[in-house]
Amino acid sequence: MTIAQGFSEIPPTAEDRPRRRSPWRKRKRNFLLSVQSKKGIIKVVFEKRKGCVKVETALRKEDRKSMFEGFEVIQNAPMRDYTTLRLGGPADWLAFPANREEILALYREAERNGLPVTVIGRGSNLLVLDGGIRGLVIRVEKNMKDIRTEGNRITAQAGALLSAVANAAARAGLTGLEFASGIPGTVGGGTVMNAGAYGGELGNVIVRVDGVTPDGKALSLSREDMKFGYRSSAAGELGLIVTDVTFELEPGEEEAIRARMAELNARRAEKQPLDQPSAGSAFKRPEGYYASALIDQCGLKGYSVGSTRVSEKHAGFLINTGESSADFLALMRHVQKVVEERAGVRLEPEIRVLGEETL
Ligand SMILES: Cc1cc2nc3c(=O)[nH]c(=O)nc-3n(C[C@H](O)[C@H](O)[C@H](O)COP(=O)(O)OP(=O)(O)OC[C@H]3O[C@@H](n4cnc5c(N)ncnc54)[C@H](O)[C@@H]3O)c2cc1C
Repeated sequence: MTIAQGFSEIPPTAEDRPRRRSPWRKRKRNFLLSVQSKKGIIKVVFEKRKGCVKVETALRKEDRKSMFEGFEVIQNAPMRDYTTLRLGGPADWLAFPANREEILALYREAERNGLPVTVIGRGSNLLVLDGGIRGLVIRVEKNMKDIRTEGNRITAQAGALLSAVANAAARAGLTGLEFASGIPGTVGGGTVMNAGAYGGELGNVIVRVDGVTPDGKALSLSREDMKFGYRSSAAGELGLIVTDVTFELEPGEEEAIRARMAELNARRAEKQPLDQPSAGSAFKRPEGYYASALIDQCGLKGYSVGSTRVSEKHAGFLINTGESSADFLALMRHVQKVVEERAGVRLEPEIRVLGEETL
């Protein structure tokens, strides 16, 4: 079993899809037969790409109710309530585990019922599509927030907010995480993304990442094992669910640390549209350029598709004021296309895209 962490690729439009090789193509299936049996619904599936036939079973409604009993879960959870973009259809199941044992137990239950699993943090780097997410979504942000300080090391659970860890570091007189105090995500999501700002990156101050794989293996990884790159890490290829992260910092003066945090956060508030729903910078910084400058130079500031638009304050931020992920995708595609045509630079999404386009 694998975990879904979304795609750093804009799904192609319906017209483009048959000609392009992308992870989205794998999802194209034809259901040939659907039969109601005593045990539930049996679907015979023909997978176009592989040309093979397989059988899937779906539980009956009454059996589905007892699934995930004893866990904190919500059924048909609207993902717009769990993402900073405030977009996305329902997750079939959304679970809030309290520790690694619960994560593994949730996996086993999902596997037993043939459900795919997706892990999310605070949802501040996500576009969830209008059809929502099938199967189980595990959100670590709610119940896994412990932060412990020991000497110049801080170990935080994956669901702790980066702002909380940066504050704990300031309280302990430790410098090195000031850059992260305004990044509105969790330690887990930030580690997977190697989040960074103002010249700092989490990968530079992380010394250990603990987690589990879906088959129950506990992993303790060094900075080198994590292969941190620009907004990337090895978490996806390792199938890692991050549970705890240890940061190593330098001794400093609390007052100076807090002053630096305040200065960076003031710069952020001045430049970024923090009062409007977004997922931060929509595109990665292309080598030798700034995505926001390219978007601005192409005259796209304020350009809108339906209820989404390019921020007038910071062209790298795409803003949502409505309820349509399809509009947001169309805006991302448009920006990517225009910048490629006019500036000759291909913008790669920084936002991770999750879920189905239709229910
Ligand atoms: C206003 C605003 C400003 C921002 N500024 C910055 C910035 O300055 N720098 C920057 O880098 N980013 C920035 N971001 C983007 C975002 O906050 C970061 O990428 C953040 O680290 C994502 O954390 P998250 O908990 O929200 O992760 P999510 O968005 O929930 O998930 C991100 C990815 O990590 C995976 N994931 C999450 N938790 C786990 C886990 N425990 N185990 C395994 N996989 C996991 C998810 O599957 C997904 O692929 C900004 C966003 C906003 C809205």
